[in-house]
Amino acid sequence: MKVRKFLIALIAFFGVIGVVSTNQVDAASINSLAKKYQYSGVTYLYKMLKLEGIKYNEFPGVEYQNGKPEGIVVHETDDPGATAHDEAIYFNREWNKINAYVNAFVDSKQIIQMCSPNVGTWGAGQQANNRFIQIELCEESSRDAFAKSVNNDAIYIAKLLHRYDLKPDNACDDGDGTIWSHKAVSAFLGGTDHVDPDGYFAKWGYDMDQFYSLIKYYYDLQKKNENTNSKDPNKIKDEVSAEVQGAVTLGHDAYVYDKNGKKTKTLKLAGSPVTVLGYKLINNKKYYQIGKNQYVVATNIDATVRTAKKNTYLRTRLGRIQKDNLVRKGSRVMTYGSKITINNQKYYALNATQYVLASDIR
Ligand SMILES: [Zn+2]
Repeated sequence: MKVRKFLIALIAFFGVIGVVSTNQVDAASINSLAKKYQYSGVTYLYKMLKLEGIKYNEFPGVEYQNGKPEGIVVHETDDPGATAHDEAIYFNREWNKINAYVNAFVDSKQIIQMCSPNVGTWGAGQQANNRFIQIELCEESSRDAFAKSVNNDAIYIAKLLHRYDLKPDNACDDGDGTIWSHKAVSAFLGGTDHVDPDGYFAKWGYDMDQFYSLIKYYYDLQKKNENTNSKDPNKIKDEVSAEVQGAVTLGHDAYVYDKNGKKTKTLKLAGSPVTVLGYKLINNKKYYQIGKNQYVVATNIDATVRTAKKNTYLRTRLGRIQKDNLVRKGSRVMTYGSKITINNQKYYALNATQYVLASDIR
C-alpha cells in the first residue's frame, strides 16, 4: 500500500512538474535558440532597389509629434510565405494605393529598412503613427527560422532604443512605455483594430512578454559593450559602419583580400551577393569581412554619393549610352568602388550593369 501511494504521489508530482516544465521549456527555448544566432544586419531599401534596377518610390514620412520617436510598435505581417524582400518590393510599389507603410521589415535573413526611423510611417493608425517607429516581422515556417527572425527583430529594436535614448519599458500590459504591440495600440490608444503579433507568436508558444525580455537582454548587452568600448578611437567609425552587415550585393567588381590585406586571385563580380560579417581596418583602409579570412575593400559595398555636373546618360558595361537613363545636372548618383576604364574612358559603376562617365560627375 505504502509503495503504491508513493508511486501515485510520484506520478502526480512528476506529472505536474512535467506539464509546467514542458511549457517553460517551450517558452524559454525560443529566446535561448534566438540568442545562438548572429544578427543579419540592416539592408537599406533605396540601395537594394538601386542594385536590382527597381524604381525607389520614396515615402514622404510622418512628422513625430515630439520631434523624435517615443517607442516602437511590433507588428507581424500576417502574410505567410512572404519574405522581407517580397514585402519591401510590394510596399515600395503600392504604399500610396494601399495607404500603408512601415519603417522596416524583418525576417530570418535580413532587416530591410524602408525609411529612416527619424520619420513616422502609416503602420498603426493616427494615434500611433506620429509617435512610434513601426516594424513588421515576417512569417517563418520553421521554429529555427522563427527564432532567428525574432533575434534580428530584438537586436534591431534594442539598437533603436539606444539611438533615440529610450529606455526599454513594456507597454503591452498597461498602455505606458516604449515597446508596444499593434494589439496594445488598438487596446490603449485606438485608431486601429489589429491585434498582431500576438496570434502569430502564440503559434510558436511565444508572447510579447518573452519578446520584450529578449529586447531588454540585447539592450543591456549593447549598453555594456558601449561602456567597455568607450575609449576605443575606432568607436565612431564602428558606429558608422555597424549597419552594413548581412546580405548585400557588390556594387563593383571586387578582389578578395586576406586578413593581412594581401590580394588573392579571387575576383567577385559586381552584382554578386555577399554576406558582410563585420569590418576591419587593414593599413588604415576599410575592408568588409565576407568569409573566413576573406575581405573586400569597403567602397565596393559602401556607396559614394556623387552629383552630376551636367546632363549625362548612364552607360552599359561596353560604354554604350542608355537612352532611357538620363541623369540630370545636379541630381545625385550612388557609385561604388574606384574608377574603371571602358574604351579608354574613366567611369564609375552604379551597379553591375550601369556606369556613368567620371568626368560628368563630382
Ligand atoms: Zn500590425
